[in-house]
Amino acid sequence: MLKKLLPGLLAATLLLPATALAQRTYLHCGRLLDMRSNGRAQTEMTLVVEKGLVLAVERGYTTPPSATDKVIDLKNRTVLPGLIDCHVHLESETSKDQYLKEFTQNPADVAFGTLDHARVTLLSGFTTVRDLGGSGVNIALRNAINRGQVVGPRIFTAGKAISGTGGHMDPTNGYRLDLMGIPGPTDGVANGPEQGRQAVREQYKRGADLIKIASTGGVLSVAKDGSSAQMTEEEIRTIVQTARDLGLNVACHAHGAEGMKRAIRAGVTSIEHGTLMDDETMQLMKKYGTWYVPTITAGKSVADSAKIPNYYPALVTPKALAIGPKLQGTFGRAYKAGVKIAFGTDAAVFRHGVNALEFRYMVEAGMPPLEALRSATVSAAELLGQTSSLGTLEPGKLADVVAVDGDPVQDINAMQRVRFVMKQGVVYRSE
Ligand SMILES: [Zn+2]
Repeated sequence: MLKKLLPGLLAATLLLPATALAQRTYLHCGRLLDMRSNGRAQTEMTLVVEKGLVLAVERGYTTPPSATDKVIDLKNRTVLPGLIDCHVHLESETSKDQYLKEFTQNPADVAFGTLDHARVTLLSGFTTVRDLGGSGVNIALRNAINRGQVVGPRIFTAGKAISGTGGHMDPTNGYRLDLMGIPGPTDGVANGPEQGRQAVREQYKRGADLIKIASTGGVLSVAKDGSSAQMTEEEIRTIVQTARDLGLNVACHAHGAEGMKRAIRAGVTSIEHGTLMDDETMQLMKKYGTWYVPTITAGKSVADSAKIPNYYPALVTPKALAIGPKLQGTFGRAYKAGVKIAFGTDAAVFRHGVNALEFRYMVEAGMPPLEALRSATVSAAELLGQTSSLGTLEPGKLADVVAVDGDPVQDINAMQRVRFVMKQGVVYRSE
């Protein structure tokens, strides 16, 4: 009899509709920066969360009406919207044998490696990221996180990034001839508008959320030049138009001014790094409404790593030393010139999980702390086209919430002391 009953009971428990268990979570926030309008902090506030969304923002510490509701005490914390890093690569992380791994790792090895990168990124307060390129494993990672199989941030991914033959995104740069082969549009290598169109459609077909291109050389590719233009304006224009037809934005890696100008005129949504940006380029970005994603942390990190003997291949070291240290100064000038800025670090070029260092570098370069916080919330959500669900804490938006120890408006280093992380109503860190 009992044997017959038990499976029935178990089944009944498992089949309980989610609504029967629905509870609200009341976050008592000592200091709340909801990032709306003036962005000034409010003290002694309550955030009510239900079904993964912000239900209400109330004054004072509200006592929940139901015993099934939950209270989380953040009275000694500053509470902010979940942070957004607009430039990461979750598939990899810098190491001395990074270049060798291309020959030793299978896609499954890359996939298992991403688990740690995704987890530490989320636990450090970044509830959403733009993954700006890998092998395509990043698309599977996004799906696994969305299914709840893997702990990590919400991902908007570019899949495999695109450039011309020998360009920054050619995956065979520096290889022996017989290993090099002739990579094409399906490998992210496109020459001429026709191949560019095919390369974009290929990423769309595989499930990319956006397109990433490189209009100039880059630091870490095994190629001599790190900043000259590597795509024609016509090529970029075709890529942008094809992407737009498919509902995708284009992020453009660029270090040199000529490559940036071509990309801006061709209509890309953001310039990544932008190291050698001149005044004319800044004016052009303002005219076209192009976003700037600075990645100062990457610049500093590559310059540091390049000082370690044999850390990078011989072709890479001089580029890292020349380009890396310039980023912070460029960012300071771009901010003063009024260029739109969205927070991005290029995590992977340095170790994942310390993305919040970027805040400190931005403030050091002259950006007020509140503006730096806006760049990683409101502005980043705007760049992602997600203002209806991300970027601020207000009713109807996703309950992505972080809390830090201290007041980041007074001391931006508080952003490195994340103590609480909630993504879509689920608590991943609480101390
Ligand atoms: Zn990058």
